[in-house]
Amino acid sequence: MADSDTVEAKGGEVGRDFIRDIVQADVDAGRVSGVVTRFPPEPNGFLHLGHAKSICLNFGVANEFAGRCHLRFDDTNPVKEEQLFIDAIQRDVKWLGFDWGDNLHHASDYFEQLYEWAEHLIRTGHAYVDDTAADQMRAQRGTLTEPGQNSPNRYRAVDENLGRFRDMRAGKLPNGACVLRAKIDMASGNMNLRDPVLYRILHATHPRTGNAWCIYPTYDFAHGQSDAIEGITHSVCTLEFEDHKPLYDWLIEHLPVPSRPRQYEFARLNVTYTVLSKRILTTLVRDGHVSGWDDPRMPTLAGIRRRGVPAAALREFVSRVGVARANSMVDVAMLDSAIRDTLNPSAPRRMAVLRPLKLIIENYPEGASETLAAIDHPDDPEQGTRPITFGRELYVEQDDFMENPPKKFYRLSPGNEVRLRYGYYVTCQSIEKDNDGNVTALRCTYDPQTRGGNAPPDGRKVKATLHWLAAADAVPAEIRLYSHLFNRPDPGADGDVMADLASDSLDVLTGCFVEPALAGSPVGEAVQFERTGYFCADPDGTADRPVFNRTVGLRDSYAKARV
Ligand code: ATP
Ligand code: MG
Repeated sequence: MADSDTVEAKGGEVGRDFIRDIVQADVDAGRVSGVVTRFPPEPNGFLHLGHAKSICLNFGVANEFAGRCHLRFDDTNPVKEEQLFIDAIQRDVKWLGFDWGDNLHHASDYFEQLYEWAEHLIRTGHAYVDDTAADQMRAQRGTLTEPGQNSPNRYRAVDENLGRFRDMRAGKLPNGACVLRAKIDMASGNMNLRDPVLYRILHATHPRTGNAWCIYPTYDFAHGQSDAIEGITHSVCTLEFEDHKPLYDWLIEHLPVPSRPRQYEFARLNVTYTVLSKRILTTLVRDGHVSGWDDPRMPTLAGIRRRGVPAAALREFVSRVGVARANSMVDVAMLDSAIRDTLNPSAPRRMAVLRPLKLIIENYPEGASETLAAIDHPDDPEQGTRPITFGRELYVEQDDFMENPPKKFYRLSPGNEVRLRYGYYVTCQSIEKDNDGNVTALRCTYDPQTRGGNAPPDGRKVKATLHWLAAADAVPAEIRLYSHLFNRPDPGADGDVMADLASDSLDVLTGCFVEPALAGSPVGEAVQFERTGYFCADPDGTADRPVFNRTVGLRDSYAKARV
């Protein structure tokens, strides 16, 4: 029953956290009448796994409390923002399964209002224009142990400040000539309260407001006020904004804003063997370390999607990670298992041979072939079966054969019998080699009484079942295997994150074969290659030469079990 399911999910361990407790308490006490949250990306890069956590939290809370969640672009820095990013962010949030409905907003929608409020602060003696040069201003800010110094411009008359601020807006001053600062406390223990900058001059074209403005509010000045304009009740952000909260509250207190949002912080997501910093991800793209923002090795939603990960697997991962206040590092293996657990019940099974070795069945009639049935999903009979071709010449995996096998290697070796899944039992009789001594083909015999891979009448047992393809109709394919982008769990821990880039994170296999049922697979749709892993077609492929991405391998325990 859908209703009790929802109650379960809410009351159970998954989906309960301190943020939801706070919201629940506010609702119960009548402090808020409707829950309104927002996801507030800066459009200066693609969304990544960390953003997925924030999206699931903000939209999830809104959904669970029958409220609403806004998608708001905090677009206050035109120098770094692009339409490309604005479009990608919307695509990715939708893909992840969330709907902002009519609530698409931009901090830039409020530029006029924010400007008016800046003048309000000047008029009430809470802001001033400072002409101090940037490096000197930095020096005057003090340190964590020493108070800052007041700027000589701090005591300018209101009228002079207003005139100068209007000159800033009118474009009469070059970049960097001056800034608008809040007048708070240069001796505050919180650096963010030492007369923070509210507006700076940037002669730059904005993706939405074009050249209408040459001064832009800082993130701190735009963020809380945008929350207030939109009636956000719970402004949920990551811990690094905790030190900004006093400024957030100070501004809300000193401005005639229409509502009083409250900020709550949770721990950002960190995942081993990757980085969740837009700055570093931008560098990877810009310097060509990856093929783009959607390179399947990237921790971006676009990359993860291209790799074949369904949105449901990401939501599952985020829910397993939970929401806490302590910063921590999540093992990427947790993501992999969420992906497997999501794909396993549904992904159709197919056969593909990544590193082919020819297998010739000597007692199978030359030129003959037959059609057998392969089961599409062992646990889901509804998926049915598909025809596969069996013939005299087949392909198996190179690593399913060993000429001199160790004990407990039950796969192909001279004299050993194995089952070909859905095919027949075959026994390796001899091997062919090239001049360099590489094995080029296995000569085998088959037992006609084992059709469909069934045990023979004499009850003979084999210990290995292999996947295979018929050479006659196997489709050539390229298969891309991905591993971690960085070669240590904590990239950059020694200072230089680029030095930790793995050199072997992409392995392109070109001589692969897949079964005919895989030709024309829809891009991004997950399949399991039996015994190998989960894969999906990549947009780089063509109808007669598909390209597949490995989404994730099968469990390690499975790899052991295959020996
Ligand atoms: P970066 O610092 O890497 O450039 P950002 O945090 O500034 O990224 P934003 O576009 O400002 O990127 O982020 C939008 C929202 O996503 C913010 O509320 C931010 O707190 C949240 N967010 C960003 N990174 C993470 C993360 N790793 N885990 C959880 N939430 C995150
Ligand atoms: Mg940010």
